[in-house]
Formats: sequence, structure tokens, C-alpha cells
Amino acid sequence: MKVVLPDSSELELPEGATGLDAARAIGPKLAEQAVLLRANGNVRDLRLPVVDGEQIQILTTRDAKDPDALFVLRHSAAHLLAEAVRRLYPGVKVAIGPPIEHGFYYDFEFPEPIREDALEQIEAEIRKELAEGRSWQREESSAEEAKRLFGEQGERYKVELVDTAQGEISLYTQGDFTDLCRGPHLQDSKPIKALKLTGLAGAYWRGDERNTQLTRIYGTAFYSQDDLDAYLERLEDARRRDHRRLGPQLDLFHFSERSPGSPLWHAKGMVIWYELEKIRQRENAKRGYLEVKTPIIYDAETFWTSGHFPKYEDLMFSLDVDGRPWAMKSMNCPGHMLLFGSRLRSYKELPLRFAEPSPLHRDEITGTLHGLLRVRLVTQDDAHIFCNEGQIQDEIAGVVDYARYLYELFGMSASAELATRPANKIGTDEQWDMTEGVLETALRLNEIPYTLAAGEGAFYGPKIDLFMDDALGRKWQMGTIQLDSQMPSRFGLTYVGADNTEHPLYVIHRALYGSFERFIGILVEHYAGAFPFWLAPVQIRLIPVGEGHRSSTHALRDHLTAAGFRTEVDERDETVGKRIRDSELEKIPKVVVYGDRESADSLAVRDRGGQQYSASLADFVQELEQLQ
Ligand SMILES: [Zn+2]
Ligand SMILES: [Zn+2]
Repeated sequence: MKVVLPDSSELELPEGATGLDAARAIGPKLAEQAVLLRANGNVRDLRLPVVDGEQIQILTTRDAKDPDALFVLRHSAAHLLAEAVRRLYPGVKVAIGPPIEHGFYYDFEFPEPIREDALEQIEAEIRKELAEGRSWQREESSAEEAKRLFGEQGERYKVELVDTAQGEISLYTQGDFTDLCRGPHLQDSKPIKALKLTGLAGAYWRGDERNTQLTRIYGTAFYSQDDLDAYLERLEDARRRDHRRLGPQLDLFHFSERSPGSPLWHAKGMVIWYELEKIRQRENAKRGYLEVKTPIIYDAETFWTSGHFPKYEDLMFSLDVDGRPWAMKSMNCPGHMLLFGSRLRSYKELPLRFAEPSPLHRDEITGTLHGLLRVRLVTQDDAHIFCNEGQIQDEIAGVVDYARYLYELFGMSASAELATRPANKIGTDEQWDMTEGVLETALRLNEIPYTLAAGEGAFYGPKIDLFMDDALGRKWQMGTIQLDSQMPSRFGLTYVGADNTEHPLYVIHRALYGSFERFIGILVEHYAGAFPFWLAPVQIRLIPVGEGHRSSTHALRDHLTAAGFRTEVDERDETVGKRIRDSELEKIPKVVVYGDRESADSLAVRDRGGQQYSASLADFVQELEQLQ
């Protein structure tokens, strides 16, 4: 039989040859370094046979960054973890241990709960295994055989897994540990050059809280120590930037148990909020949006009409008003539909763009709340553009251009995902060809890189999900642009054309920041709290040296404030050094120390970076105006 290699050449192999045989036929070095087989794009254990005619690729230790190569390495590391834990904790039961993004975990039921500090000893035990070397043997088994094996060991989770397993059962053994596993696995443990256990967490068996709570041990592994070091550094950087830590530290916001998921914004956080709001209003005005305001609560009938009920009913807070069911809106669309429908609309009014940064409430499950990134009180920079078919192209292009403009203001690059027709779509293929084409053209015209999410559109129309890449290269989902003809028709909305008859209407739902909450959370992490001058809650801090200079700093503050800069005086009875350090911790862009030698002709300025220079007040103001 023959298989096709990545360079399109053919390799002849005897019937029943495995991936490893294929590797050996290519070369002994390759066979030694082989970690995984990719056949027709799918991963397969090297020990399994190849199939006549298929396209194969042998992944080796040199594919250290390949996600599949990392998966097989980490999956094998998870098995080493289980072996080590079983040796150290007699009576422990093992559950499951898959590779995940950035690492792996294994779930255990320990006879006695363990603590974080036990990880060191477990890691040392794994190192011992790595030093001794392990290799993996794969065998097929019958369900009865596997149940007998795990039953004898008292591994009740494995027995349960065999009971519910689909298809063939396979076992992998290394050292004295045999696991029920589909694979694939490494040949041996040599490629695992770096490994670290990263944490402990509770996890329910099969993710169901009615089941036993297990202990999940997280870890990660790499093909080189350098890769692990770089990963840990990124992790540390992400921790340092975590908005849930920086938010309260920088006095921007906090959360209270009295209303989980709804941030309490402090004055400094609101400065950032209003800077974003100013941009929103300025750009909306430039781009022909109309600012409107609609109610927060509506009778349930409204949401049956809009289609939010029953689909999103669980996500909405319901109310009882005069004995009738009402709800708090989770989206602005229904209000904007009512507003559009308040009178007959002529074609001359289109496109009509309603914008509203209204608070929305979503009854997210407590466990899924995550700082500002997932909240119950969401403030979207929402808008609905009502237009006719011929206007869709320009309107979508305008929204995409707007999004790109916004993200670039913050030094982030935009990318997109285009979600196309799903299986349960309504409307004809011709309509979908048109609407998908319009969205795709808008992305192309604006040169925004995009990927296709085939079949992921809503049943009533395609959509664009917008992403930004932050300073750490992380991709954040921001806004969405959704084309829709359904909701207008559910509300009976049309427009009167030049021919004096009614025509169907389209609406574009779009939010570009996404929400103020989420956007600010992302900005905090992107800038690591060191906001650019124009966005910083406190832009300038003045530090008088001793009592005698207080009044001079007050006058200076009033001057700078009048010039439009957010300025504070720190006149606490602390040393100058301490006050400078505090302003560094608060990441204030400009600090001016005012003592005997200073005057309006010579200010001692200190940058956030620690650089010092002196400038006259006039030059200083001129410099700041450039940064504003
Ligand atoms: Zn496994
Ligand atoms: Zn909407």
C-alpha cells in the first residue's frame, strides 16, 4: 500500500504498517524523534496502522510549537502525574486527565484532602519518573477485561468510564500505571524536557455538582525549558495586568457581595468611562447616529414579540408589575423597534441610526461571573441602523470602518470572524448569498483580516464578530455587527417607498466597544494600568516640598485644571520620596515636585517612566497639549 507524504511524494509500505513503521521507512532519526501521526488532518497514535492512500505527516520533537504536538506531550505528562500521585497516595482514585489549552490536568479522589504545598513533592516524583524514563504501551481490550482490571484496583471512576465508553477500548501503560485511554501518546517520556504543576482546584465528577467533589491538579509541559520559561513569564505578566487586581488597586471600581456581577464605579473609573463616552458621542455625531433613550423594563409581551422569549428568558430578570409578568431588558433592540414604529417612516428617513448606551441586565450564573469581563450589569455602546436593502452595503462598511478607527485609538489591531448561514436558517440561499457577501465585502474594503465561522450565524442573518489583539498578543472578542430582517418584521415595521407602498426593512445591530465594562477591563490589562496621558484618571500630580509651597502648588493646580488637565495636589505629611513612590504605584503619567528651587519658569517634572526634566510652565502645558 501507499501513503502520501507532505511533499506529495508517495511512500510504499507493507500491509498493516503503523505510523512508526512509516517513520522508520523514511529514516531512523525521524522515527526516533517522532511523537505523533497526522493523517488526513487528524491526529493518530504512532502505534496505529496507516491506511492505504491517505496523506500522512509525522510530527517530531522539532514541532515543539505545533498545538497537536503539544497536546500529545501534555496528555502523556498527565499520565505521569497520575502514576506519581498513585505512588505517593495509596488509596487515591483516579478519574480523568486530558490535555487542555496551555497544559493538562488530572482529577483525583484523595483519601485525605491535599494542599497546594503537596504539589512540590508530586512534581519531584514526576521528575524521578522522567529521570528513569518511561515508555507507553498501547493495547486493545474488551470491556469485561478492562472492568476486571480497574475493578481489582478499586478504580470505580474508570469502571464507570468503561461502562459508558463508545467504540473500542484501549489501555496505555507506563511504569506501573495503566490507564483507560484513547490516546494518542508519545513513544516515551524523553521529549518531555520541562514540566510544572501549576495549581489545585475542586471539580465535580463529570462536572455535575451532585457527584463527588474531586481534586483537580493542573500542570503544563513543554518540549524545552525555554518554552516553559517564556510561558511562565507570560503568565506572570498576565497576573500583573489582571484587571480584577488592578481595578481596586488603582481605585477604579470594586465589586460587592450585595450585588455580584455589578461593578461599583469609583470616581477615577468614571473618568475613563466618560472619556470613552466622549469618543462614542463625538464619533456617533460625525457618523450620523441619533442618540435616543428607551425604557429599562417592559411587559413580557414585548419580549415575546422581539423573540427574546422564550430563548433568552432565563438570562433576563423578571418582574411582577401590577400582577403581570414584566422583565428587565437584556438588549436594547425592542425599545428601538418601538421607537422606529412610533410613526409611519418614509424612505427619505433611511438610513435611520439609533444609538443608546443604556444599562442592560443579564442574569448570568454566579459561577460564570468574571470581573468586568462577564457582568450582570452591561452597558453596551449599542446602536440599531434601520435601512433598506440597497443601503446595507454602505452601512455595514461604515460600521466596520468605525470599529477599525476605535480599536486603533487604543493601539490595538482589529480582526474579525464572519459567521455564515446555519442549518436552521430562514430565508432563501439567494438572500444569504447577498447578506454574507455584503459583510465579507465590508471586511475586505477595510482590510480587516477575518476567518470564516461556517454555519455559526444566527438563523435570521450572518454576523461579524470583532476582535482586538492586546499588548500581550491576546485576542479579545469585542463588538458584533449583525444583519437582521426578522426583528423588524416581528414588530410589523416597514417603510413607505417612493412608490407609496410599504417595503421590508433591514436592521443592523452593532456594538463596537462591546460594553463599557468589558472594554475598560480589557484596557486595564492592555495598558497594565498605565493609561496613556489622555485617558489617565489623574494626569498630573503636584507634590509640594514642605508647608511653604502649598499655596504655589494650589495655584499651579488651578492653572493646569483650567487648561483642561486632571490635576491633583498630594499634600499629605509624607516624605517627598514616599509621595513619588505612591504616584508611581498609581501609574500617574506626570509628577511635579515643587520646592525652593522651583518656579513657573522652572518646574521639576518626573515622567511615569522615571525620567526627569525641568520645563517652564508654558512649555510644560504645550507638551501636555500634544499628549491630550
Ligand atoms: Zn490518556
Ligand atoms: Zn440589537
